[in-house]
Amino acid sequence: MTRGRRREIDTSRHFCPNPACAYRGWVGWGNLRANGHPSGGPWRQLLCVVCRRYFLETLGTLFHGKRAPVELIVRVIACLAEGLGIRGTARVFEVDPNTVLQWLVDAAEQLQAFSRYVLHDVQVQQVQLDELFALLSAVKTGEVPAAEAIERLDRSPSWVWTAMDPESKLLLAIDIGDRTLAMAQRVVHHVTQVLAPDCTPLFLTDGFREYLTALLTHYGHWVQPEHPQAKGPRPKSRWMPQPGLLYAQVIKTIRQRRLVRVRHRVVFGTLEAINDVLALHGWQLQTAFIERVNLSMRQHVAAVGRRVATLCKGKDGLRQQLALYHGYYNFCLPHTSVRKPLLLLEPTNGTGSAKRWQPQTPAMVAGLTDHVWSLREMLLFRVPPWPQPVGG
Ligand SMILES: [Zn+2]
Repeated sequence: MTRGRRREIDTSRHFCPNPACAYRGWVGWGNLRANGHPSGGPWRQLLCVVCRRYFLETLGTLFHGKRAPVELIVRVIACLAEGLGIRGTARVFEVDPNTVLQWLVDAAEQLQAFSRYVLHDVQVQQVQLDELFALLSAVKTGEVPAAEAIERLDRSPSWVWTAMDPESKLLLAIDIGDRTLAMAQRVVHHVTQVLAPDCTPLFLTDGFREYLTALLTHYGHWVQPEHPQAKGPRPKSRWMPQPGLLYAQVIKTIRQRRLVRVRHRVVFGTLEAINDVLALHGWQLQTAFIERVNLSMRQHVAAVGRRVATLCKGKDGLRQQLALYHGYYNFCLPHTSVRKPLLLLEPTNGTGSAKRWQPQTPAMVAGLTDHVWSLREMLLFRVPPWPQPVGG
């Protein structure tokens, strides 16, 4: 199949972009050859041996046609993903804020496409749904009184909605919008698109009542009641929760930044069934959401939200920074609470203590990928236009 010496470059993640080519969009069919760096540029040129078309390895990524150094673009985007604002990032790297904004928009689009491509048919046992206001940290530091915050929350569109698998810490969905039924529907819909079709996890939420309707919409079915008598009108069918659906609300009462009480309400299923799922992690319903509070992600998202809400004006900028953060969090950031012990202690060079932990990202724990992705690698990933066959 190949002539001449074997090429060093890995073309296995690339695909031919030519619409007229039979191999267009297919990954791993061996139709691509590396062809060196045209005019001494930083990127390799690839050749599709089927249609004889040449293209750059950056085609379709945000690096395509950009004159700025790759490392600069990557570091600017890393700063945005860490929650630093557009203006702050622009000052640090001495780049025009409009350029930073443009890179943010491009990177968000790329990471969103990447997440859509990789996050599908996920199997989880639990989903925790949470809305978090971007102003939350202002409340925490006492800059904004809680009562005023709640007043503003009701009018403001700046709720950050998250859905997470507490076991792998995988962020299934992140979105921004009002605290309304429509948003609850949208977030639950997003979660169902990421989960495998046969996966009906245990749902835990706070006391926000609209979750009930949203969950019932997606995890309900028509039930024909038993016909009581031989004669008379047939009783009407009713929309009921699926038999396996488990849903509980955990309601925290916080007074002066102290957690004073945790109550729970079993909405669908039984307390026994719910505690059986939680017991796999040594949790109980009363403590399940406390686990969640301690996650660094919460502060991280708040930082992202706070920055963009003030600096980017309008929720579109926030949505982009959250999309960026979504991919960065799931694939790039090893999570301390899900790290895996190494079987053998690896001595480190020098006098440091032995390394005992293998870094694990939420996507690795969830079995979606086998390594920690770098932001650069993710930004360079050309998302194929359609799903690839398994093992292809
Ligand atoms: Zn081709």
